[in-house]
Amino acid sequence: MGMDRRRFLKIAGLSAVMGLGGKAAFDLFAPGELEASVKDVPITAVKKWGMVVDMSKMDDEIMEKCIEACHRIHNVPNIGNLKDEIKWIWKEIYEHTFPGQHHQYVSEAYHGRNFLVFCNHCTNPPCCRVCPTKATWQREDGIVMMDQHRCIGCRFCMAACPFGARSFNYGDPRKAPKELNPDFPTNPAYPTRTKGVVEKCNLCAERLAKGEVPACMEAANKIKEDSLVFGDLDDPDSKVRELLREHYSIRRKPELGTEPNIYYIV
Ligand code: SF4
Repeated sequence: MGMDRRRFLKIAGLSAVMGLGGKAAFDLFAPGELEASVKDVPITAVKKWGMVVDMSKMDDEIMEKCIEACHRIHNVPNIGNLKDEIKWIWKEIYEHTFPGQHHQYVSEAYHGRNFLVFCNHCTNPPCCRVCPTKATWQREDGIVMMDQHRCIGCRFCMAACPFGARSFNYGDPRKAPKELNPDFPTNPAYPTRTKGVVEKCNLCAERLAKGEVPACMEAANKIKEDSLVFGDLDDPDSKVRELLREHYSIRRKPELGTEPNIYYIV
């Protein structure tokens, strides 16, 4: 965890040192841009963001804290009914999370056990392919983004996503009861949305741009260190790669070929 955060801060710091203050730090995380701007500096641009959820350390309390932190920071409305629920990150039982890997003899420890789930920021995201307005697209570093200003509410992306990772605002989310991010609106890091648009997890792209780790990771690691780890899957020295090397891990619905970038140590 420490190493990845240091790298974020290093990149953010470099933008100031090199007089790039007027340039959005957000852009610095696009690998090509970073190399062009600071090509003489010996740092590696992040090529492929990914997350490791260590289920040996995760419990319901930690998951709740992750959900609370994410939804508060992103001003996710609490609609109050499951049918119209808006969710960026949520809990799902084992049988639903890994349906292809469930069988009748699986250890009882997994029966009905909750897993923390969110957008998998798939390497081959079907949601992006079907969007007619390119309101959802994939950055070079793998993050699948969503621009609510370009969303026309067709919901093709929701039909294409096999993980239920996207939610639609059937009503006006600004009228739903919620606890607004205390930073808002003085810190317009993530604005509220309008009726008729889709939303989902963005891997905290707005926090990465400020040199901060995703809110869920921060919340989880306050309770249990390394229960949720985020980093560069292309960097063999990153913490995520170290964990994946040392532990057996699974992904959601690998048989569909979307290549999720969220890994679960089980
Ligand atoms: Fe798209 Fe769903 Fe994959 Fe996220 S989990 S990238 S919304 S297909």
